[in-house]
Amino acid sequence: MKKIIFATGNENKMVEIRMILKDCGYEILSMKQAGIDIDIVEDGKTFEENAVIKATAISRCKEAEGCVVLADDSGLEVDAMDKAPGIYSARWEGEDTPYSIKNQKIIDRLEGLTGDARSARFVCAIAAAFPDGRVETRRGTIEGQIAFAPAGENGFGYDPIFYVPEFGKTTAELAPEEKNKVSHRGRALEMIKEVL
Ligand code: IMP
Repeated sequence: MKKIIFATGNENKMVEIRMILKDCGYEILSMKQAGIDIDIVEDGKTFEENAVIKATAISRCKEAEGCVVLADDSGLEVDAMDKAPGIYSARWEGEDTPYSIKNQKIIDRLEGLTGDARSARFVCAIAAAFPDGRVETRRGTIEGQIAFAPAGENGFGYDPIFYVPEFGKTTAELAPEEKNKVSHRGRALEMIKEVL
């Protein structure tokens, strides 16, 4: 069976990715399962650049020979904060700061704003690096608003404050299968599936 290595150490993402790619005819391995443990400096200026940096770095490892390597870079853009935290979403206000605190900080920054002034989106760029050296990227997004208070227990990261008006719920209140159908990562992976 053909193999995909997904370049992430984030177990939450791996769960979503396995669910979305389960019927694509490839065996899906995490970096850990593939026996790859390298540090990659994500110094790109866009989600796409960072995804390509990760995918090509892993693709060069001998453990990845003959495999397709997928890497994603994702984050939250809050329009009223000049699209921050953006590509710095994981590190914003400190990598080890709990999301309960980071999420409250965003809510506080948007004090006094209502409706469209609270607009935000999750962005996900996925890069696919093929054994012949070809690299393709695809971008998925989901539009929403910053909630007035956190809600929901599902998902991870900024999900409790990402309100999607068409569902009347945050992405942390959506069931995992529901989130995957409409999420930035779900959409980007669906496009990458076509490339595969
Ligand atoms: P990355 O691992 O460098 O792509 O960083 C992604 C960061 O963006 C995560 O650590 C979260 O803070 C945020 N993020 C990305 N996707 C999601 C999502 O689906 N829900 C909530 N937060 C997300």
